[in-house]
Amino acid sequence: MDKNSLTRRQFITTVSSGALSAAVAAVPATRLCAQTTQSKSGHAEGQTHSEKSSAIPDFLEIEVSGDAFEQGVAHGEAVREYIVPYHGTSLRKKFERSPKAKGAIEQAMAYLDKSFPDLVKEMRGIAHGAKMDFRDIVLWNYCRVLAAYPAGCTNFALRQTQVGPALCGTVDGAPPRYRPYPLFIQRFKPRKGYRLLASVLPGTIWVEKAINEYGLACGNSGISTTDVQPRGLPFHTTYRQALLNCRNVEEAARFFGGISQICFGGIFVFVDATGNALSIEKSPTRQVVLRTTENWVGSANVFTTPSLREIMTKTPKQIKESQGRRETMANFAAKVGTSASMDDLLAFNRSHGSPAAICRHGGKDGSHTRESYVLLCRERRMLASTRGYPCKAEIHSFSL
Ligand SMILES: [Zn+2]
Repeated sequence: MDKNSLTRRQFITTVSSGALSAAVAAVPATRLCAQTTQSKSGHAEGQTHSEKSSAIPDFLEIEVSGDAFEQGVAHGEAVREYIVPYHGTSLRKKFERSPKAKGAIEQAMAYLDKSFPDLVKEMRGIAHGAKMDFRDIVLWNYCRVLAAYPAGCTNFALRQTQVGPALCGTVDGAPPRYRPYPLFIQRFKPRKGYRLLASVLPGTIWVEKAINEYGLACGNSGISTTDVQPRGLPFHTTYRQALLNCRNVEEAARFFGGISQICFGGIFVFVDATGNALSIEKSPTRQVVLRTTENWVGSANVFTTPSLREIMTKTPKQIKESQGRRETMANFAAKVGTSASMDDLLAFNRSHGSPAAICRHGGKDGSHTRESYVLLCRERRMLASTRGYPCKAEIHSFSL
């Protein structure tokens, strides 16, 4: 265990008057637990905790307020040293001669300018703060629709536990050692809309997992479909907008019904402080809201409803793996009932259980779990693992 990492925490705060520089102050970290044991599942686990680069902090926290541009500038300044080497101009080089990319940006900007102009201002702010080309930031935010970014993730909401309604989940992708940036936590204090605590991919207007001041929490699982379109809201921005505007799951479902254009598909899992939960299966052209009388709602990277399954572009191997994770969720829910403890929730994210692991180390479809979260609706709190597989990574607590 790297004891030095326990005290390494950067808290960056911006002032709402619009000052563009960030003040940095150290605050003590809260470490809840650290799992250092090796997997017993037989996964190929060659990596150890030391795979993390010591030059990159475990996480960054930033609080953004002010108008959309000011929020973007604070974001860009905070993560510049990570997003520039991460993608820099590589996306532009990849797509600059692509009519698809050019068309995607033009269509995306036309839609956002008309329907969500603040999001354009925020991306301009990110570009300004990071000293990057605005077009590169737009490309980065639309990379999924340009097929430049893989999709993975598990979400598992329990309506009742010992610690109230909760959402567990992971973010999957390339092996953790390839992620050259810290876990990036943003607190949004918007002039209009509800306060929000979210993990964010640096340089994007996306969120990965998020909870708002009313305890409404959401995560998503991306799923490619035949109707992917180069216009509309970036997929991960959709539920950030919902959390900025909704207090509970039913309001979120209505909000989604009013979004006419989204550029990519997937499943959004919502749970709120009253213990209601639902999932929304959505592609650019289709949407189904699924409510439940059971204690859990979950998502992997496979649709469950026929009208959306028929337009998925997943391979049989990917579908089988995702269905395995859904079965693991069902088994876990049956085992814990309505009395899951905090340890149970953390154990879910670390699970290498059957028939499919939640903490993934490559395996059949090559996905690796590099972040994990437990969102506690009543406490408005997020527990997040830092860089590394959940079964090995440290977990820190962030409160709204
Ligand atoms: Zn693991």
